[in-house]
Amino acid sequence: MKTIVCGAGINGISTALWLARSGVEVTLIDQKGPAAGTSFGNAGVLSSGSVIPITVPGITRKAPAMLMSANAPLFVRWSYLPRLIPFFRHYLRHATWQHVQYYAKNMYPLISDSLHQHIELAKGTKAEKLISDHDYCYAYSSEDSYNSDIWAWELRKSLGVTFSVISGEEFSKSDPLYREKFCKVVLNKNHGRISDPGVYLRFLFDEFIRQGGKFLQTTITGLKKSKGRVSAIKVTDGEIDAANYVFTLGPWSGHISRLLELKVPFESEGGYHIELINPTEMPQETVKVASGKFVVTPMQNRIRLAGIVDFSGLHSVDNTQALKLLKGSAKELFPSIKYERVDTWHGHRPTTANSLPLIGQLSKFNNAFVGFGHQHVGLTGGAKTGRILANLVIGEKPEIDLTAFNPNFYSKS
Ligand SMILES: Cc1cc2nc3c(=O)[nH]c(=O)nc-3n(C[C@H](O)[C@H](O)[C@H](O)COP(=O)(O)OP(=O)(O)OC[C@H]3O[C@@H](n4cnc5c(N)ncnc54)[C@H](O)[C@@H]3O)c2cc1C
Repeated sequence: MKTIVCGAGINGISTALWLARSGVEVTLIDQKGPAAGTSFGNAGVLSSGSVIPITVPGITRKAPAMLMSANAPLFVRWSYLPRLIPFFRHYLRHATWQHVQYYAKNMYPLISDSLHQHIELAKGTKAEKLISDHDYCYAYSSEDSYNSDIWAWELRKSLGVTFSVISGEEFSKSDPLYREKFCKVVLNKNHGRISDPGVYLRFLFDEFIRQGGKFLQTTITGLKKSKGRVSAIKVTDGEIDAANYVFTLGPWSGHISRLLELKVPFESEGGYHIELINPTEMPQETVKVASGKFVVTPMQNRIRLAGIVDFSGLHSVDNTQALKLLKGSAKELFPSIKYERVDTWHGHRPTTANSLPLIGQLSKFNNAFVGFGHQHVGLTGGAKTGRILANLVIGEKPEIDLTAFNPNFYSKS
């Protein structure tokens, strides 16, 4: 039953830990170490009601103006555009009401019990203390911007997401730093927050090691396949084999997908955070600022602002305009706050054309399992994805229908 899990982000660590808890001998591999990828720098929101994809109807009409504006949270590196065009063709084709409904209906079972899934994953570990059940607050600066999103709230409600809508004034009573900033705020219930995603994953990783798991820091460079199975993975300094292989390489999944003969339209959606270190004041709530599409999360001794969509490929340098935008937003939101310094981070969301992750066992290589493509909600869905993958490896039925996530849909004939 020896299993190799490739990639130590939230999806890989969760899979590895659930497998180790089931008594499976697991080696977890990462090129840099645990939580070195996207799972380090996200906004820390367990956003169980985030069932609306980026590709909503109208995006194709709005995107050009956003791309031309230095103040909109959408960027493309123009020199990368030729590489992007084939992906965009598939991606934008999903900007239909029909697909939005399909996406929402299928993502909801994966992410709706995220808080519970993380509590279960972290049970008995130091990571437990980093989870809290804060509301997730969507804040609108005008009545019009709220009204333009009502359809999305109706859709969430129809699936079972619970929320209440209050005025900006009412909201600022519980979080005075936001006084006179917003017109309407939607408080999403049964959501959660991880107070430091990097440390959280480290603690889960420590538990994996404590359970007998092994870790290898090396880069996966290729695969060996024989008779409908993966027989080994190639790493920088040799090969390693096991009975089963789980691939949770996040935004770096493109290369391995091709080797696994999956033809997935897949891209990295760059994102950024800035952190105000040792601020003189601290907001209380987790707030999504709808106008700027970024999230403000209070963390240990710092305030993190995370967001931006920057289609510039996995190897791009920092987009200074994107960071300037986040820094400007911080100044505008918190003019009275002083801080020691600003730290910045640039990461990559793993994104498929239909925005749905691939989760499942491959029929072409039946000892191979994949779990990647969680785009904006990978922390939210990662605890459950890991549990599902662990169940598949040990031959147990997953608790949700995986049809919409079936990787074999992309299998080259
Ligand atoms: C700005 C921003 C804010 C976000 N906010 C949220 C949020 O609030 N809530 C939420 O749910 N989601 C959020 N997300 C999305 C979320 O962070 C990701 O979906 C999630 O972290 C993906 O996890 P993963 O395990 O799939 O990938 P990663 O965390 O990227 O892990 C993949 C790992 O694979 C390793 N790897 C890659 N290639 C190789 C190789 N060849 N050999 C060995 N190892 C390799 C990497 O080093 C990395 O550690 C945000 C993302 C961004 C960018």
